[in-house]
Amino acid sequence: MPSLYLVATPIGNLEDITTRALRVLREAALIAAEDTRHTRKLLSRYAIEGHVIAYHEHNKLARLDTIMLALANGGDVALVSDAGTPAISDPGFELVQAVIAAGFPVVPVPGPCAAIAGLVGSGLPTDRFYYLGFPPRRSSERRTWLGEVAAIPATLVVYESPHRLVATLEDALAVLGNRPAAVARELTKLHEQFVRGTLREIQAHFAGQEVRGEIVLLIAGAERPSGRRVARSIADSAPVDAASPSEEAPVDAASIRARLGELRAQGLSGTHAAKQVARDLGLDRQEVYRLWTTLEDGS
Ligand code: SAM
Repeated sequence: MPSLYLVATPIGNLEDITTRALRVLREAALIAAEDTRHTRKLLSRYAIEGHVIAYHEHNKLARLDTIMLALANGGDVALVSDAGTPAISDPGFELVQAVIAAGFPVVPVPGPCAAIAGLVGSGLPTDRFYYLGFPPRRSSERRTWLGEVAAIPATLVVYESPHRLVATLEDALAVLGNRPAAVARELTKLHEQFVRGTLREIQAHFAGQEVRGEIVLLIAGAERPSGRRVARSIADSAPVDAASPSEEAPVDAASIRARLGELRAQGLSGTHAAKQVARDLGLDRQEVYRLWTTLEDGS
């Protein structure tokens, strides 16, 4: 039965291609590629000739007929994107649906995927993760988008352009709180880099430098109820050992008010701000909200 093969290709290091992927590419009647020049370079490295056609964001619907015809004529079709797994933040989904509807088999040929490579190297929990793809470009939309996933207890996986990384880290910090996170940059390439820490630390690391390369941002999920810390108490004044605060030491009301004030200036509501500060500092949410109300009273 002629089939549509979804063939994963390297995300940087050209050695990252399976022997099965090479065989499928060699045997396919048609290779539908996001960028034909890019794919020809990969094919020529492995001495594969191949009949390559363009299949990208702007012609993906028009191309359906050509691909269906190839399948109807008994040939296998291989779909590849520029890098990684087709249909993951890349064209492919509509084609897969159409091929399933037409009754032909759809066969994944697994391999590289930046989201998975970044996740497994991040040091963040891998038992549950939530793939988000690319965030909106505008900060206000990005904050809403982050707010929608703030309560999900799974590691968040985000693709981001290097130019927007710092702004997205700032928004993540404001909306999600200072969670553990990691930036995976240039995976499988010469300058592969993982920057791990809290969102604030990572934001400080990249702020003020020209960020380059391809990036996956990974952010710890919301704490699960079972993992919730015991609420700390709120003190009227700064504790004596404020210079080296411990997880259990009381937190002084003035610094909580200051943090709430910052979040209010960033546009967060009282409920959201209290929730975030309570989560960051291990405090009782209602007590923090009570401080928010005094803030609004101007005290
Ligand atoms: N389909 C691809 C996959 O399976 O990973 C993703 C395609 S998406 C258009 C491209 C984005 O993936 C990049 O902007 C970047 O966020 C991420 N990416 C791709 N290659 C990467 C790499 N070598 N290192 C880090 N991130 C990468």
